[in-house]
Amino acid sequence: MTTSFHPPQRTLMEPGPSDVNPRILEAMSRPTIGHLDPLFVQMMDEMKGLLQYAFQTQNELTIPVSAPGSAGMETCFVNLVEAGDTVIVCQNGVFGGRMKENVERCGATAIMVEDEWGKACDPAKLEAALKAHPEATTVAFVHAETSTGATTDVKAMCDLAHAHGCLAIVDAVTSLGGTELRVDDWGVDAIYSGTQKCLSCTPGLSPVSFSSAAIERIQNRKTKVQSWFLDLNLVMGYWGKGAKRAYHHTAPINALYALHEALVLLQDERLENAWARHREHHNALKAGLEALGLTFVVPEADRLPQLNAVSIPEGVDDAQVRGMLLNDYNLEIGAGLGVMAGKVWRIGLMGYACRKDNVLKCVSALSEVLGRVGVNVDGKKAMKATLAAYGE
Ligand SMILES: *Cc1c(COP(=O)(O)O)cnc(C)c1O
Repeated sequence: MTTSFHPPQRTLMEPGPSDVNPRILEAMSRPTIGHLDPLFVQMMDEMKGLLQYAFQTQNELTIPVSAPGSAGMETCFVNLVEAGDTVIVCQNGVFGGRMKENVERCGATAIMVEDEWGKACDPAKLEAALKAHPEATTVAFVHAETSTGATTDVKAMCDLAHAHGCLAIVDAVTSLGGTELRVDDWGVDAIYSGTQKCLSCTPGLSPVSFSSAAIERIQNRKTKVQSWFLDLNLVMGYWGKGAKRAYHHTAPINALYALHEALVLLQDERLENAWARHREHHNALKAGLEALGLTFVVPEADRLPQLNAVSIPEGVDDAQVRGMLLNDYNLEIGAGLGVMAGKVWRIGLMGYACRKDNVLKCVSALSEVLGRVGVNVDGKKAMKATLAAYGE
């Protein structure tokens, strides 16, 4: 007989999912009510306000899509892009490549602006592409590239897009709640995120937000959005303003309780404090990793605190080390993605996982495991450096 599934308690220092706050898991186990129950609708309205705070926006259309970050990405593209359009996609890692796929599946042309993996997207290259392609309607790029740990200057990129009559789509899956993000001040037109990264919620939902210019474009489309499920004109009937809500799909009720709780936690902590916390623990982890002789992939100025990509030392077996960390320490760190597979480890410090005890556990476990596989490391020195960064 198959019995219930009981997963172990891991420490998730990977590029998502991150450790889920126990308060969020508890919220998820509360009684399921109907998705048109007046109390549920009231909770949805609160959620909108909490998401507006998290995104720093007044955008009315700020809601969670009932599916993971990739569906948030697709929501932005299928609603804003029509067949025959030209979209400039700035790519500096794996996720920019997925944007290209989205553009092409909309029947549009993707003009790729490539930057080296591990570096920020270069606004000067975007400007050149905008000049070369006056027919472009949209610019898309990733704020926090999770495959490398590099951040891009959102405001500079959005300003350029607008100066050339384009709307800007921004991927904020890894940045929301972890590093500074200001949707209105920075002029973002369409943005999507995920619940399982710096919001430390369970995976499966994608907060999105659209500016009035984006809504205008969606309402004036020449053709129907090819995805019925992701068509915002229809989704708005359920999430929209006012008392009259129409059934669109059954909302993932308990998952939404979880996101509500995650956003209440963020509101209570305050965004600025959450951003500072990610920075503080990153600095300590960095001190420890560097004392172990590991080097960061991304130059300091472009580095994200919540995603620490370091090069794997020569001769070390990537999978063996990650396996030892998982089996002996219940600690999961991320492998490299795309061209960086086998070359880097990506250590996440996201949301609830971004804590002092996790940083100390990671440095100590890595130093022991690296020593075991024959790397010459000084574990004591690494722990001392980590604690020193905390002022101890
Ligand atoms: C994780 C991630 C996604 C995809 O999110 P899923 O929830 O896995 O679908 C998209 N973009 C970036 C930058 C990410 O880090």
